[in-house]
Amino acid sequence: MLKTVLEALGLTHRVCSCCGKIVSDTTQGHICNDCLSSIKPLHPINYGKLQFVSSYRMFAKYEGMLAQTLREIKFKSVLPLARILGGKIKNHLGEFLGETKPDLITYVPVHTFRFWKRGFDHNEEILKGAGVNFQRVLLRRKHSKPLARLSKDERVKVLKDAFGVRKEFIDLVESKRVLVFDDILTTGATSTSVAELLLSLGAEEVYFYFVAGERV
Ligand SMILES: [Zn+2]
Repeated sequence: MLKTVLEALGLTHRVCSCCGKIVSDTTQGHICNDCLSSIKPLHPINYGKLQFVSSYRMFAKYEGMLAQTLREIKFKSVLPLARILGGKIKNHLGEFLGETKPDLITYVPVHTFRFWKRGFDHNEEILKGAGVNFQRVLLRRKHSKPLARLSKDERVKVLKDAFGVRKEFIDLVESKRVLVFDDILTTGATSTSVAELLLSLGAEEVYFYFVAGERV
């Protein structure tokens, strides 16, 4: 807290939380340009099966600079970083869009409570940074507690009925190939829940794209 105040007053330099160098562009949180430029897609990745999901891609592992960048975006509400990260994944995501040719692109939304707390939806902002034409198809009904400490079975239970489809999209999803964007793949409970919902409304195929994954 004191550090933040001193930084705001210009009494101390803001240092990169990854490498300790001084961060000159203070709009991008505590990540310096050198560290940002080290964020690159990981190849190859061994993809396991995600229930109800036709295929998926992941930019890289949830570790190092990429993990730190996602934490700055989500827990310190650094909006410009979300756009910068979107620019980083743009080509990789673009390749997957070229392969899957979805009719509809959307994202896993945060609950309204978290939206107001953070001021933005990080997934939406990353997609904007990637220059992707997306729609707000999904809504989050329940404000679930962070899932990190739950087992897979517990997550599935918590996430059941956690998502819905916005009224104006209920009929539009039918026969569509839908690509859903999410930041992190952990156990796959979220993607399973969302894909099952979209398929139940008649979607032809559901694809997922993740920025980072823990199951690599
Ligand atoms: Zn750095």
